Amino acid sequence: MSGLYARDGAAIAGLQKLRFFPQAVVGGKGTMLRADDGRDLLDLSAAWGAASLGYGHPALVTAVSAAIADPAGASVLSAANGPATALAERLIALFPSDQPQRVWLGHSGSDANETAIRAARRATGRQGIIGFAGAYHGCTIGTMAVSGHPTLASDKAAGLIQLPYPGADPDGPDADAVLGLLERHLAETGPGAIAACIFEPILSDGGLVVPPEGFLARLDALCRRHGILTICDEVKVGLGRTGRLHAFEHEGFRPDILVLGKGLGGGLPISAVIGPQWVMDCATAFAMQTLHGNPVCAAAGLAVLDTLVAENLPAEAARKGQILMAGLRDLAQRHSCIRALRGRGLAVGVEIRGADTPLQGDAAATAGLMLRACERGLVVYCVGPSSSVLELTPPLTIAEHEIGQALSLLDGALQDLAAGRIDSRAAAGFAGW
Ligand SMILES: *Cc1c(COP(=O)(O)O)cnc(C)c1O
Repeated sequence: MSGLYARDGAAIAGLQKLRFFPQAVVGGKGTMLRADDGRDLLDLSAAWGAASLGYGHPALVTAVSAAIADPAGASVLSAANGPATALAERLIALFPSDQPQRVWLGHSGSDANETAIRAARRATGRQGIIGFAGAYHGCTIGTMAVSGHPTLASDKAAGLIQLPYPGADPDGPDADAVLGLLERHLAETGPGAIAACIFEPILSDGGLVVPPEGFLARLDALCRRHGILTICDEVKVGLGRTGRLHAFEHEGFRPDILVLGKGLGGGLPISAVIGPQWVMDCATAFAMQTLHGNPVCAAAGLAVLDTLVAENLPAEAARKGQILMAGLRDLAQRHSCIRALRGRGLAVGVEIRGADTPLQGDAAATAGLMLRACERGLVVYCVGPSSSVLELTPPLTIAEHEIGQALSLLDGALQDLAAGRIDSRAAAGFAGW
């Protein structure tokens, strides 16, 4: 274990750790991180998708340096500022509607989803929320209360209707069954009790599950018939990652409210809620934190949106996603511990089966694989209700040769797993999810 990792252990609270192996980082460039032992690590997580442009992208460095050198204040609460206004204008233009729209700027996916839920309740005068099992919407009391991920065990919101996400469990209900279940719930509660339905366009931390074709459009239409607002949580897979600018564009519908985070700041904390004016202006001084809309993070958001367009990153994510998936299919042919491959663009899940390996359990095999991958120079984390799905969300700027490199590093780790060359006790020392 490195010196930095040990110091982190003695100073940083366990409360905010989700560690899979002893990774200690001192710098980064592009897709590469520099570990404190001098090794270069190829980062296939991009810090859970946040480093959407990789590390140290010149557009981000330039924009953030300029914004911090001559800052237009430090908040949007009590004054307009240029970067926040420009970012909001841009986000509205990228999520077109024939109704007037407004943007709320936050720091994280958690505060954004919480605001979307609270505003939907205030604007509609209704309390109930529809959510999904396995969904991760944030780590605040309000967002945990509408989430379904097992890590977010907490008191659930009063009147929460929690539905199974179709496709999450191969033996579970399909799209028809889930929509039928919702209709029965609505008949019972009366639709006038429900403010909003919040969902992920790909169930990410719940196992990288792509919904069956047509499901989200039908869900949206059903909610619309009952005056229930739809909130699409694109915090992880939005902004180009799936191969389209917005993940919902694959599905042929437009949600009422769009939530963005993670990759929006390219590594700086900024999130956004974009929705109808009647919701977003339903109150003032209602959902605010002092540094919301600060010009430095807003400038980062603008630089990310500019670069998405300038470098054609959504189309690039689609193209590179195909290369990555083809390589993974090849690995799956040779490694029986790969149970399934799922995803869209550069949001990819690799489900691991432990039974065929010396480590036996799915979670144990996945933990060993992640540890070994890092030892070989590849950073990849896992998701899923049983912590057995590798989640690949590299920077959208990843180079083709780096995809090849990542596949060969993963291949090596998979061979080590099959051959019993992984110290399972070392991996078991990390709590993970
Ligand atoms: C990460 C995530 C969140 C929470 O975002 P934070 O920035 O961690 O608060 C919300 N929704 C989804 C889909 C996420 O992946």
